[in-house]
Amino acid sequence: MFVPGLIERKRDGGALSAVEWRDLLGAYAAGQVPDYQMTAMLMACFLRGLEREETAGLLDGMMASGGKLDLSRLGKPVVDKHSTGGVGDKVSLPLAPLVAACGVVVPMMSGRGLGHTGGTLDKLESIPGFRTGLSMDETKKQLAKIGVALIGQTPEIAPVDKKLYALRDVTATVECIPLIAASIMSKKLSEGLHGLVLDVKLGSGAFITDPAKSRELAETMIKLGEDRGCHTVALLTAMDRPLGRACGNALEVEESINTLMGEGPQDLHDLTIAEGVEMLLLARKAKPSDDARAAAAAELEEAITSGRAAEKFRQIIEAQDGNPAVVDDPGLLPSADIVEVYEAPRAGTVLQVEPRAIGKAVVQMGGGRRKVDDVVDPTVGFVISARPGTTVDKGEPLASIYARTEADVAVARAALDAAIVIGKGKPEMLPLVAARVSAAGYEELA
Ligand code: URA
Repeated sequence: MFVPGLIERKRDGGALSAVEWRDLLGAYAAGQVPDYQMTAMLMACFLRGLEREETAGLLDGMMASGGKLDLSRLGKPVVDKHSTGGVGDKVSLPLAPLVAACGVVVPMMSGRGLGHTGGTLDKLESIPGFRTGLSMDETKKQLAKIGVALIGQTPEIAPVDKKLYALRDVTATVECIPLIAASIMSKKLSEGLHGLVLDVKLGSGAFITDPAKSRELAETMIKLGEDRGCHTVALLTAMDRPLGRACGNALEVEESINTLMGEGPQDLHDLTIAEGVEMLLLARKAKPSDDARAAAAAELEEAITSGRAAEKFRQIIEAQDGNPAVVDDPGLLPSADIVEVYEAPRAGTVLQVEPRAIGKAVVQMGGGRRKVDDVVDPTVGFVISARPGTTVDKGEPLASIYARTEADVAVARAALDAAIVIGKGKPEMLPLVAARVSAAGYEELA
């Protein structure tokens, strides 16, 4: 293999065959291709794009670099979900135990915070003792025992994706649809899934803010999944405001527990049920008729009201060495030294709560990373009660700030001043679930 020739072809707008992609990634994984050549190739991909066959070759090469969870012996449907990331997007925490409480195996593999968005692993690690770094073997045993695990990418799963992702992160080559699609799907398809639900975010708090590109990303991932026997459905959902009220690791765990108890914010509850319905339909190979949807939603609601979903979350925490008592006493979660109230600076209608400014402030206050080796503070963040469309009086409490220093409180106040727009009129808001995309096509739901 002559790597400069492959780079040159891609640079000039040509395509590599699927075999060439697999060979290139194999050589890169084996340390035979240096990072500088791979960087040049990634930039050529970023600028020229990839053809469908190439994206497939890239995905297969990533998957071939590692192993695959073989869960066939469990004899049950295996389904997962993935979100492209947002602010306050904690759906994975209530969703995994909820769907597992309905008899579906959920090997949920998640990531850490990225940019202005939070990560499921960072949130879970605010539970005292909770361990997300399970091996493949431990994961399989836990799935056989309780049907659900909440874990990070194991070293055996698509290791070349991990290497490529680290390279893309520092070479301005992340925001490229085929590269994102192959990267996400390499991890998800290595879980041995029968079905996958994708939550592709829309709006200013999403990584991809152009709705046409969000749809393209969803369609690319669906094709990759379906071609490999994993039925894949995407919901395009609102990220033009934070999801729920809590933004920040431990605060989001508490809100997730409330949701499992049936006492969470309406939007978080509704999105968790919407994604849960899709997961149950995939697990049961059911046609997405209105009746099947209503039955699945009723089953999920019953798992909440009966306490089975919360009990499943206790089981997960216990199995992963955390303290399950947090489910009944969220006061056991770590808490911030300083809590201050943010009041409405004027009367009017809340026209916007802009999520990106909020997410960036959480990172700046220590709730995310600016460098890879930063230690995340689980306690900091916001609980924002202001919702677009509500009218507020001057001085009315709109949010609570959780911080570790007065300087961080000032950062938080400035972020809220910028994010919460109060004025006259009606806000323009995206529907919570704007569209559903599947192999059958695109369906607007608004
Ligand atoms: N998440 C991933 O796993 N990969 C990407 O490329 C982007 C987001």
